[in-house]
Parts: sequence; structure tokens; C-alpha cells
Amino acid sequence: MTRLSAITPSDRAQLGNHLGATRRWAREGSPDDLYFVSDLHAMTVAYNPVRLRARTNEMLAVLLATGIAPEAVFVQSALVRELGALTWVLECTCSFGEASRMTQFKQKADGQSVVRLGLLTYPVLMAADILLQGADEVPVGDDQAQHVELARDLARRFNTTHGEVFTVPRAVTPATGARIRDLADPTRKMSKSNPDAAGTVFVLDEPDLIVRKVRRAQTDNLARVRYAPDEQPGVSNLLEVLAACRGTSPRAEAESFTAYGPLKDAVAEAVVEELAPVRTRAREILTDPAELDAVRKAGADRAAERAAHRLASALRVAGIG
Ligand code: ATP
Ligand code: MG
Repeated sequence: MTRLSAITPSDRAQLGNHLGATRRWAREGSPDDLYFVSDLHAMTVAYNPVRLRARTNEMLAVLLATGIAPEAVFVQSALVRELGALTWVLECTCSFGEASRMTQFKQKADGQSVVRLGLLTYPVLMAADILLQGADEVPVGDDQAQHVELARDLARRFNTTHGEVFTVPRAVTPATGARIRDLADPTRKMSKSNPDAAGTVFVLDEPDLIVRKVRRAQTDNLARVRYAPDEQPGVSNLLEVLAACRGTSPRAEAESFTAYGPLKDAVAEAVVEELAPVRTRAREILTDPAELDAVRKAGADRAAERAAHRLASALRVAGIG
């Protein structure tokens, strides 16, 4: 069984990435798994190439520091040629309507004066990421489930039209921590690329900054601690974060608190404890760029080798290559 998933170096990894995705990749790791830094996905909005390179390395270090095996990681652009070829084939399998219906496209395109075509087509590149490696499961947060669904549809359609080449993948989301909300605005999800970072806890944040961000988290004036995401999104989000860190459930955590102050203190402490080992380890890894390069090179070779046969089959049955 192959699990595959990715994180985009659009900015620095945040708590939602850790609880909803990367920590699970480390815990559930098996020998065939592949986890990568999706640097090509970071090009869908305006970006700085020098910073992209630095963030890509930092993200790779964070994946390793989280506990993902060095054999399982790679950087997406190592496969840019293979992915370019398969993306084209899949773009010719996907309809414009399907791509433009993606919720994330609508959200990210909203309010931008220039919308890059890549922002519309990136879910197809993501489908190529998944299908090229024959992934069975894609462990993601809630927000990515729709994109994995598209990959499933494209795999089935291609297989039916041209012949059985692709494994039909499925998204796997966690019971707790699938959608961590922004601490300053709990109506939206925590995201690394949110320009207002006040409500975003970054994985590499110093403990005192984490404490300050959690203490300032938006709650409400209902003065009761209950897990009710619709009525009390801020408080429920804090309970969700606490439960995800402690491996409990948000409802059970709600029983232990009557006031917001002690809840915030407990959340701050749990998050600091959860992220401290990752921060320390990531710092160590980043002091040895040669070792990180070696991991990157080995990962690229492994991913390319795995992809070669499937890409050749896909091109052949599609009548090209
Ligand atoms: P961006 O703002 O650039 O889209 P992001 O924070 O959404 O960044 P991604 O790189 O898009 O991060 O996603 C990496 C993984 O983290 C995906 O599996 C995604 O579903 C998961 N994820 C992202 N945000 C959250 C969140 N707030 N809660 C839980 N999981 C999340
Ligand atoms: Mg995202």
C-alpha cells in the first residue's frame, strides 16, 4: 500500500499542517510511502524564486524533523518533466467545468486582480502527483478532499477511456484536527499563506510567541466551554487543537474547563510541547545542508524510478510518446 501526500512551500508550515497532515504522515509511515514538498504548487500565485528555494529546503527539514523517514521524502520539481507530461494528458481528461468548480480555486482567485492559469489547473497537477506514483491513500486535511476526489474521477475516466493504468486513490482525513481554524478569525481555516499571520501558529515559532498567539485567540462572550463549532467556533477550535495534541476528543476536553483563561493556558502548553521537538530537530537539520541535499537527491532518484513505468504506460495507451 502506498500513501502519498504533500505540503506546499508557499510560506512556513503551520499548526494545521502539522495536526491535520504531516504528523500523521510520520506516525503512519510504511516503506512504500512518499511525502514531498510541492514547490511547483507554490507558483500558482505571485512568489519570489529565492524565497521559494529557501522555503522548499526549510519544508523538507520540517518533514524530516516531524519524523518522516528520509527515504520517503522528495521535492516535487525533481519530477517536473514527468509531471509536465502527465499533467498535460490529465488536463485533456479533465473538463473546464470540473476545474473551475474547485472550492479552493474560487477562494484563492477571489479578490485577485490577476488569476494565474496555474491556479485553475493545479488540482490537475496534484492528480498527476498522485496518479504517477500509484498512490492508494492520500492523507490530507479536509480542505484537500475535493482535489483528491478529482484525482479519483480523472483516474477512473482515463482507465475507462484508454485502459487500466492508474490506481484509483482515496483521501484519508483525521477524526480530530482535519480543519484547524485561524486563531484570530475562527470562521476560516488556518493557512500558511494567509497574509494576516496573527492567528497562525507556525511550526517553527518560538514558545513565547505561541503562548501570545494562543492567549489572543478569538473566543466569544457566551462564557461557557462547549464543543459547538457552529455556535462557538473559537472555543471549539481551541478544544480541537488541545484534543489533537493530547490524542483525546474535543468533547471530552470541554468537560475539564469552565473558563476561557485556563483553556487557553492548557492549549498554549500543549502546542508548545507538541512543536518543541520538531523545532529543535529542524534547526539541527538545517545546519547540515550537505546532508539535506543528499536526502533530496536520493528522494528524487527513488521517485523518478517509481514513476517511469507508469508514465510510459499512460503515454502509450493515450497514443503518444
Ligand atoms: P496554503 O495557504 O498555501 O494553501 P496550507 O496551510 O493550506 O497553505 P497546504 O500546503 O495547502 O497548506 O496543505 C498541506 C496539508 O495540510 C494538506 O494535507 C492540507 O489539507 C493540510 N492542512 C492545511 N491547512 C490545514 C488546517 N487548517 N487544518 C488541518 N489540515 C490542514
Ligand atoms: Mg492549502
